[in-house]
Amino acid sequence: SSAAETWDALTVDPALLTPMMQHYVELKRQYPQAILLYRLGDFYEMFFQDAYIVSRELELVLTGREGGAIGRIPMCGVPHHAFERYAAQLVAKGYALAVCEQMEPADQAKGLVRREVTRVITPGTVLEEELLKARQNNYLAAIVRLKDLRQPDSPWGLAYADISTGEFWVCQSAGAEKLEQELARLQPAEVLLPVEDGLGLNLVRPRDPQALLDLPGQYGYTLRPPEPFELSVARANLLQTYRLGSLEGLGCAGLPLAIRAAGGLLQYLEETQKNLIQEKGLHCLLQPPRTYQLTDYLMLDPQTRRNLELTQTIREGAFAGSLLWVLDQSRTAMGGRALRRWLLQPLRDPEPIQARQDTIQELLDHPSLRTRLGSLLDSLYDLERLANRVGSGTANPRELVALGSSLSKLPDLADLVADAQAPLLQSLQRVDPALSDLGRLIERTLLPSPPPLLTEGGLIQAGVDSELDRLRQQVEQDRQWIANLEKIERERTGIPTLKVGFNKAFGYYLSISRAKAHQVPDNYIRKQTLTNEERFITPELKEKEARILTAQTEINQREYELFLQLRLQAGSQAEPIRQVAQTIATIDALLGLAEVAVQQGYSRPKITRDRRLWIEQGRHPVVEKSLPSGLFVANSVRLGSPEGPDLMVLTGPNMSGKSTYLRQIGLIQILAQMGSFVPAERAELGLCDRIFTRIGAVDDLATGQSTFMVEMNETANILNHATEHSLVLLDEIGRGTATFDGLSIAWAVAEYLATQVRARTLFATHYHEMNQLETLLPNVANFQVVVKELEDRIIFLHQVQAGGADRSYGIEVGRMAGLPKPVIKRAKQVLELVEKHSRIGLGLRNQGRNQERAQGAKKNPPEQEQNPSTEQLPIFPDIG
Ligand code: ADP
Repeated sequence: SSAAETWDALTVDPALLTPMMQHYVELKRQYPQAILLYRLGDFYEMFFQDAYIVSRELELVLTGREGGAIGRIPMCGVPHHAFERYAAQLVAKGYALAVCEQMEPADQAKGLVRREVTRVITPGTVLEEELLKARQNNYLAAIVRLKDLRQPDSPWGLAYADISTGEFWVCQSAGAEKLEQELARLQPAEVLLPVEDGLGLNLVRPRDPQALLDLPGQYGYTLRPPEPFELSVARANLLQTYRLGSLEGLGCAGLPLAIRAAGGLLQYLEETQKNLIQEKGLHCLLQPPRTYQLTDYLMLDPQTRRNLELTQTIREGAFAGSLLWVLDQSRTAMGGRALRRWLLQPLRDPEPIQARQDTIQELLDHPSLRTRLGSLLDSLYDLERLANRVGSGTANPRELVALGSSLSKLPDLADLVADAQAPLLQSLQRVDPALSDLGRLIERTLLPSPPPLLTEGGLIQAGVDSELDRLRQQVEQDRQWIANLEKIERERTGIPTLKVGFNKAFGYYLSISRAKAHQVPDNYIRKQTLTNEERFITPELKEKEARILTAQTEINQREYELFLQLRLQAGSQAEPIRQVAQTIATIDALLGLAEVAVQQGYSRPKITRDRRLWIEQGRHPVVEKSLPSGLFVANSVRLGSPEGPDLMVLTGPNMSGKSTYLRQIGLIQILAQMGSFVPAERAELGLCDRIFTRIGAVDDLATGQSTFMVEMNETANILNHATEHSLVLLDEIGRGTATFDGLSIAWAVAEYLATQVRARTLFATHYHEMNQLETLLPNVANFQVVVKELEDRIIFLHQVQAGGADRSYGIEVGRMAGLPKPVIKRAKQVLELVEKHSRIGLGLRNQGRNQERAQGAKKNPPEQEQNPSTEQLPIFPDIG
């Protein structure tokens, strides 16, 4: 066979290998898609092609190891204490890791050390703290679809879970667009997909793109065999995992695709986490799935999340400058995660919104409660993730200490909210005594700052276990005896320089300078001769030493056992801990929102059941914060009244503040629906079903589509999906094409939105011709961002007022930007010519006048005016 082939662990002939390498290859064949980390002493080693991959990805040295008759095998290793760091990098790059541990100490092994794969880590199944982002969930998702999603209204089921927090959700719906929205919201680290030839394990980059053609490309897909996703198998798995008689209680009994996705997800976790869950079952890691409907929430498509910069800015992708950056003042990581979820999934039901508002209001009314609650939350650890660390039996001593100290504070928390009125605050008043007991037990049992390792003692307090105390006392006495030995032996021998020393090779010894060595008593046994000193032992000294060593081993063992017992005990409370953690996370997020409301002067919006979009003196939460205080100009809006306009045509020069105004209205609506207060003097807001945005075109280039094509795609999506309960924000529609094309499209789009969809729409445009729409349609109103015109420049006032701008000031802006004088002068001449000869301009202007005259003449027949069909509208008389 050729040299290259021998590097492949999957095809190598085991007869050519040493017994250990045979075992390695056997394991590797069970996990062909994962990188196998094979524990050898203090290192995790990778061999064959894994060694190549890892040395390349992590820039580690590629070495080799004798593998038997085959010769040297490529090898690459990472030290075990740095495992999490290296693992984090590999997982972030999309690799799955199979971790093979030594199951017995090497010196106790008879023959080959017993080794087993204890855990498979994939991007979606990470539990290690270093591999997770504290303030972000890490989702594993599973998708089941009936047919190609590119066919219209193709049904699908989605399940997703975060095994670091225990969240588990399922839903079922139809249409590729909605699935894309959900995935964009969740940003899953890994997506499971059943396919006919699905492989056993994670696949870094799927080799079978055929199976993925109808799914968004940016996620890491893991192709799975179809059986666990079959309805009967999946249902049985759910029932068994959660010990249920039926799925009715979960709300998904009638949603076969959701059940199938959930079953496939559970089975994947069973396979990858087998050692974590073997004792207790998966229900310790994951709550029973909760069923949700997309219509329970305000729908935000990926563009809208991006355009409104909810969690990161468009340009740099930075957190600073996003809405979350302004909002997140939560004290704990779990509060931060809750807030992020709310922001990406605002509500549509007034009740839970009002419950959040009530809580914020109460916190605003009680500044001292805010302060005390804040400092208590500051001292709490991430209970939600700690619950899963103990539930999975992976918590280290420090994590258990953190859990203990946090649980012991629950009664203080309850005291703080003893008089609270808001139900969400009241839910902290009841502390499960089992939890505070557990907290105290942990605090009584563990030393306050234990080492990270379990096996080296230093974990358990005195007075916890009498056997442990006895052993420690004995060791203490023996140590004392040795410490006294120096004094006693100096007196006995008359050698004042005699010392007791210790080293790893010989243990305790008596050290005497060579000059005096001949004076030693008979019971001294010479052990070692150095240049200036002789080292001796005595039988008694060795006896004590042996006793200390044995006792120390027993102590470590005993401490380890006691720790495991305690962790198991804590693990049995994982579910209630998780529940209280979720309540605390909610309160923490709301306290943060209350703080923001105080600092930024937000007010409580009134939530209505109509289509009202009334904001008085609203501000952009992020722009306001990045400007010096008081410089932001507040603006109002009134759309969607029974009598009032639905569509606002907003004109004004570039840089005057149109996009800021549009965005602030979208942001205020989102803030209101997530239950927050809003940056406005007053707001009354009906609940939206969706918010659509078509703003700018920053990195459309990356998609390879023409900017205009992207713009039209997004516009089509809006026109096809918006309803009268939607909010539509359109900025500069039609900019990407020739002027007349652009204007025509902009005109038609606005008309359609105002008359057919009747969505509340803000339509920012630099085509001032669009102002004519107001005279043609009853539910359209013109507004402009006003500027002050001076002799040779304009001043931006950022003020939105009724009425349309009659020109676009493009040339003035060009001048301010520093275009050379001759260019400015020439541009003015050209503009004059163009305006004089533009028949579109003329046509629209005439049409507007005609319409005004017509309206004046006939005394409004209401039905027709309310909802004129587009065809009935007069079109430009002489276009072209
Ligand atoms: P346009 O969309 O009209 O080109 P932008 O909304 O991008 O203008 O605003 C341009 C700049 O003007 C913003 O970066 C911001 O700094 C400032 N600005 C916008 N609106 C306001 C406002 N209401 N108050 C103060 N400054 C504003």
